[in-house]
Amino acid sequence: MTGPALNVAATRVGTHALGPGRRSVVWVQGCPFRCPGCLAPEWIPDRAARHAHPAELADELLADPGVTGLTLSGGEPMTQAGGLAALVRAARGRRDLSVICFTGYRLERLRARPPAPGVTELLGLLDVLIDGRYVAGLDDGKGLRGSSNQRVHHLTPRLAGCGYDFTGGPRTAEITVDGTTALLVGVPPPGLLTAFDSAVRETRSRLLPPGTPDATPGAPGRAPLPTRPREDN
Ligand code: SF4
Repeated sequence: MTGPALNVAATRVGTHALGPGRRSVVWVQGCPFRCPGCLAPEWIPDRAARHAHPAELADELLADPGVTGLTLSGGEPMTQAGGLAALVRAARGRRDLSVICFTGYRLERLRARPPAPGVTELLGLLDVLIDGRYVAGLDDGKGLRGSSNQRVHHLTPRLAGCGYDFTGGPRTAEITVDGTTALLVGVPPPGLLTAFDSAVRETRSRLLPPGTPDATPGAPGRAPLPTRPREDN
């Protein structure tokens, strides 16, 4: 199974924080948007991160035999749609899986003017698409979408009747720590980011010399982002 290599910000194998059941997650590097309050601003720049081939990544994400689904996030997955479509095909060649994808674009825009090669193919492989840019003022602390303007599209019936409440259910999040690297997995419930940021700062101050620059991939930074002119997404 071939496809363009992916530029990957992070992966997580086996989590219950990003959709129904036990899932593996891939976050891609690079996003054309600048949503104020973005959970992962360090994944916005279009810079080289980890380059991984779809088949290799499929093996990694399915190393946990209990995984029944994939969640694609970022960064902006649609900018790497061709590679992600190849990943989904490779993974489904090994196991039957549901697939959820987040995007800052609106579904109508993706269908009318795909922003990158492979978007139409990827849309054809998804069970659920959560679309639209994050708006901090509309973050109601509920569901798998980050703010209430974002929509949950069941592109197939597969997860529509599974009992998982994508829009109104309670949020869960997991924090993994590996050395000095912390990764927050999930859409954070109210108050969690503040607690997480202060815990990271406290831990770093104990472990690292003063003045050490923050090079913590996966840790959600909270620095204000420059806003860009509104885009048609
Ligand atoms: S679309 Fe998502 S990753 Fe991109 S800036 Fe907005 S919240 Fe961040």
